Amino acid sequence: MGDFFERAERLKKLPPYLFKAIDEKKAEVKAKGVDIIDLGVGDPDLPTPPHIVEEMKRAAEDPANHRYPSYSGMREFREVVAEWYEKRFGVSLDPDQEVVSLIGSKEGIAHFPLAFVNPGDVVLVPSPSYPVYHISTLFAGGRSYFMPLTEEKDFLPDLDALPADVLDKARVMFINYPNNPTSAVADLGFFERVVRFAKKHGIIVCHDAAYTEMAFDGYKPPSFLEVDGAKDVGIEFHSLSKTYNMTGWRIGFAVGNKEAVGALGAVKSNIDSGVFQAVQVAGIRALRGSQDCVEQMRRIYQERRDLMVAGLSEAGFDLRMPMATFYLWVKTPEGYSSAEITTRLLEEAGVVVTPGNGFGEPGEGYFRIALTQDKSRLAEAIERIKAMHL
Ligand SMILES: *Cc1c(COP(=O)(O)O)cnc(C)c1O
Repeated sequence: MGDFFERAERLKKLPPYLFKAIDEKKAEVKAKGVDIIDLGVGDPDLPTPPHIVEEMKRAAEDPANHRYPSYSGMREFREVVAEWYEKRFGVSLDPDQEVVSLIGSKEGIAHFPLAFVNPGDVVLVPSPSYPVYHISTLFAGGRSYFMPLTEEKDFLPDLDALPADVLDKARVMFINYPNNPTSAVADLGFFERVVRFAKKHGIIVCHDAAYTEMAFDGYKPPSFLEVDGAKDVGIEFHSLSKTYNMTGWRIGFAVGNKEAVGALGAVKSNIDSGVFQAVQVAGIRALRGSQDCVEQMRRIYQERRDLMVAGLSEAGFDLRMPMATFYLWVKTPEGYSSAEITTRLLEEAGVVVTPGNGFGEPGEGYFRIALTQDKSRLAEAIERIKAMHL
């Protein structure tokens, strides 16, 4: 068809898909009949807790839930989000103006720049990071300025290092703690610095808080909104995906500044028609019901983390013990690039991991392991890795 289906500039501008090589190699190794242990994708292997599934079944049978939902989410869902924020973080929210439901937090993150970024505006994007911050910036016609996350700075962006001319054009800043892919956490002191900085430079803060409930050893990651003044400058994205093993259900929410929430809602009301109400009813049950399932989820990942960190350390790898997320951010051995170690782990051990540079150039020299297999498979992965000669 020649140029008939020539893609729009925004698609042509997409960065190269750096996981393509590993995806192809994985298919190749699989075709040979190798028993692959996939520690690549950040998708929980555990099922959604049964009480949530039961609630969904009941709600799906109710015809009242079969019609278009409200754009901003059911009033009861927004109320329960506000209750949950109060209980978990001590943050008060107005369910009518400061909460909007999302079809997963990825949807909200992807649409947010459409609300505030004009062509040529700068968005501050951490690197390495979840790819959606940069892509949504591109789709809105904005330009990403990458803030490197390095081990020396505990994988926090160095706000003092951002050039003045960039700050003049910056409209939005994305941050994400506990962090994917580095598993780093941030304390309230960091969030306080971000709020001061955002006020000074007139930058809207978007905090992606997808992993606040996936933390270990009793650690409770804070909300960005706990800081005084945060609601004047920012919005926080949350998801039920990781907390309740609900990645396939597509439900999340954004909370915070009412102008930010309202503008995101205005974009959404012109693009999507909200979250299936039965899914919202199940979400209400998840947030309002017993949180024992969340504690159980933490225990499972903590055991996996302990097993895997110990095994990898014995195998000679250099990594930090994460306090949160189900990721390990591991240094490549001396002399290996991210791509090289990833390829060797796959070819020689049948273990799939993600090359760090796929999340941005400063991720080079690392690879990411997702703890999304049970302990026996993780132990098997360790045995195979130890048998390699790296
Ligand atoms: C998994 C994840 C999300 C959640 O995405 P959903 O669309 O809610 O499933 C958001 N941000 C990051 C960094 C993630 O890793």
